[in-house]
Amino acid sequence: MSTRGMLIVLSGPSGVGKGTVRKAMLKKSSIRFDYSVSMTTRNMRPGEEDGVDYYFRTNEEFEDEIANGGMLEYAKYVDHYYGTPLKYVNEKLDKGIDVLLEIEVNGAMQVRDKMPDGVFIFLTPPDLPSLRRRITHRGTDDVKTIDKRMEQAKKEIEMMSNYDYAVVNDKIPNAVKKIEGIIRSEHLRVPRV
Ligand code: 5GP
Repeated sequence: MSTRGMLIVLSGPSGVGKGTVRKAMLKKSSIRFDYSVSMTTRNMRPGEEDGVDYYFRTNEEFEDEIANGGMLEYAKYVDHYYGTPLKYVNEKLDKGIDVLLEIEVNGAMQVRDKMPDGVFIFLTPPDLPSLRRRITHRGTDDVKTIDKRMEQAKKEIEMMSNYDYAVVNDKIPNAVKKIEGIIRSEHLRVPRV
């Protein structure tokens, strides 16, 4: 059986709670994986740290990375670049460590083309009003940005059928349990020949 790590791609609309679910999973010892820190050109939010939450870069720096072939995938989301640095992901997978990407759908579909053995999980809100409440409650975006994120969310939810699994994030512990179950099952999968 292959000793290469498993790539886990977690998508879902902004505000659905991907970050909260991921952090809850990292705290639990039963499921081991490394999180790939993304690169972005958006402004840092209060409390965020460069190299921890994202690698915060200028447009020019980001475009240089793309030109140098340094990105596994990238996408423009609400006027900013977001992308996954390739080197980290490959190094971890080669060492047999599972890697989790938390990315939007356009990027996820690029990963699907390049790494079809990955596990693609879509985290979805119970309904759209609850998603808007969450984004508003976060308090980091103005009304115009919230509207844009909601428009994007509707488009993202339409893309759910491109994923292997859909998990409704009604309550964080429930979503975490379901995702852990998916990862455990995927590890038992008979390799495709
Ligand atoms: P936020 O600005 O709320 O941190 O992120 C906005 C969206 O970009 C979220 O859906 C988030 O998952 C997505 N995102 C974060 N990192 C990446 C990345 O590396 N690649 C892509 N394609 N999307 C990302």
